[in-house]
Amino acid sequence: MSTASKVIRPEILAMQAYQVADAKGLVKLDVMESPYRLPDGLAAEIGQLVSELELNRYPVPTASKLRALIREVMQVPAGCDVLLGNGSDECIQYITAAVAREGAVVMAPAPSFAMFAMHALFFRLRFVGMPLREDFTLDVDAFLAAMAKEKPALVWLAFPNNPTGNAFPVADVERIVRAAPGLVVIDEAYQPFAGATFMPRLPEFENMVVMRTVSKIGMAGVRLGYVCGRPEWIDAFNKTRSPFNINVLTEAVAIKLLQNKKVLDAQAAEVLAEREVLRKALEKLDGLTVYPSAANFLLVRVAGAGRSAQGALGAGTRVFESLKAQGVLVKDFSGGHPLLENCLRLTVGTPEENRILLAALREALK
Ligand code: PMP
Repeated sequence: MSTASKVIRPEILAMQAYQVADAKGLVKLDVMESPYRLPDGLAAEIGQLVSELELNRYPVPTASKLRALIREVMQVPAGCDVLLGNGSDECIQYITAAVAREGAVVMAPAPSFAMFAMHALFFRLRFVGMPLREDFTLDVDAFLAAMAKEKPALVWLAFPNNPTGNAFPVADVERIVRAAPGLVVIDEAYQPFAGATFMPRLPEFENMVVMRTVSKIGMAGVRLGYVCGRPEWIDAFNKTRSPFNINVLTEAVAIKLLQNKKVLDAQAAEVLAEREVLRKALEKLDGLTVYPSAANFLLVRVAGAGRSAQGALGAGTRVFESLKAQGVLVKDFSGGHPLLENCLRLTVGTPEENRILLAALREALK
């Protein structure tokens, strides 16, 4: 037995690292990025800005300038504070670390964002994934009953949800926040496409915080996520944070881009309009079910059998492979959560990318 296999925790040995497919040469519609690059003028300004940075110095550990700008631009309510993460992925880590008492439970609807369960595992917490209904709607009474039984220290609600795309009804989310015995994090990663937010309602609920990211509005490569809430929560999460987690490049570029948020907002508005164009075209295809979406992607289910016991590819994976062979990368969920058998997640791209996707899908579904 190697030293590593003796020393590394068995559950870590058994797990798979977070998988991201190689998209080289493919139309990239797999991970909900914005398809748009920056206008040339703004890109050049960033080039200049980066050349002037003091890369030999550590960042300001509190990233106070960026935090102040986020408060203003994202309309964080007075009395609330902001925690920054290297992507909201890292915020999930910090929040989980802060509540990781012996025996604490973490809960979320299932399927939802994979990192909620992964960080629970990293911190040795029990994760309870409460299944959504078959059409991915939330059975709020079942969720409330499970909360009463499990008494979770932490509940994650992605609003809208990934990978299903739907936003749970606001009234149901409110019931969960009111009934929760612990913290509820509203993960608003897809808020720019949702038209609804719990941000202004932070002062109403002492056990709720709102987490967001700039990844879906054209800054996925910058790696910046944030959590807003009462100082009581944010101060605690801040203690679990790596001291210089927001690097000099991220801080400077994020400030510049948020000062020019109009550009990003206009790009997001195009994606939102394109989502509806894409939806209508997808709904015309035989052999696909298209689910409601309040995000920058559409979840579809391919009709047909799932993966067979003999390992033969299911209908969804066959379409995924055909799309890939035709140069289009989407995300295949077969073999993951059982509710997602034959489901593919299609990120909304540019009009041209979406045309390519649709043509490839028509071919794949023949
Ligand atoms: N939350 C949800 C619901 C997501 O879908 C994602 C990314 N796909 C994240 C958080 C993490 O995003 P990031 O780390 O890029 O901020």
